[in-house]
Amino acid sequence: IAARAGALVIENLGVSFGGFRAVEDLSLNIAPNELRVVIGPNGAGKTTLLDMICGKTRPTTGSIKFGDLELTGMPEYQIVRAGVGRKFQAPSVYEDLTVAENLEISLPNTHGLWQSLFYRRTAEVRRRVLEVADRARLTSDLSRNAGELSHGQKQWLEIAMLLLQDSKLLLLDEPVAGMSPRERELTAELLKEIATDRTLIVIEHDMEFVASIASKVTVLHQGRVLSEGTAEQVQRDPLVIDVYLGD
Ligand code: ADP
Repeated sequence: IAARAGALVIENLGVSFGGFRAVEDLSLNIAPNELRVVIGPNGAGKTTLLDMICGKTRPTTGSIKFGDLELTGMPEYQIVRAGVGRKFQAPSVYEDLTVAENLEISLPNTHGLWQSLFYRRTAEVRRRVLEVADRARLTSDLSRNAGELSHGQKQWLEIAMLLLQDSKLLLLDEPVAGMSPRERELTAELLKEIATDRTLIVIEHDMEFVASIASKVTVLHQGRVLSEGTAEQVQRDPLVIDVYLGD
């Protein structure tokens, strides 16, 4: 699954909601195939940041570039086509369809309905579905209804759906919330694997999990970048300690 990812360059990003500055003067540089974790207390602007990257919220100031593309101001569907995939905290999969069907319908549909019904059954589609299912540890569940999966498996299915959509930049909101310790471990492995050929931004609260994926961490506070570094470095940063203890 070759997906060429560009760098994500965010400059002086800001947005206000009725005079309240939710994100302000935020600059962020994320390299291709980087796995970046964003942490910060409630209301720090983490969700709003992802909302602006995927086009759900329009920034008031600044710019977001992904590779050669200026994402700022692009409609949401074009940002998806540019390879940006968003996953929200609660898993959203088609519970009444099988895992295989959920995966099949995620493939970009560039055909009409009848062609796509035919296309779904081609060997190429099967090959790609099997490849991604294997990556997301869902091979033995392909014929089960998605509604029967565990909470953790649903999260993996949704990540697998983003991979099939050809997302080159994956935006994940608390992917391990509600998972068992074993599922967390597997998710850490899965995310590290995905980062071998895609870029990820992950919002996370669980510092043990953050440390386990050993990536660079950005700490947001009041809509700005407060600190950046390894999990260990940011946890030792007096500014960060202050914010979390004062919370
Ligand atoms: P986090 O994800 O870090 O908890 P959010 O990005 O959800 O923070 O929110 C940042 C701030 O912006 C919060 O104070 C929140 O209440 C405010 N906010 C977010 N979206 C809206 C909106 N659509 N209208 C008004 N205020 C908003």
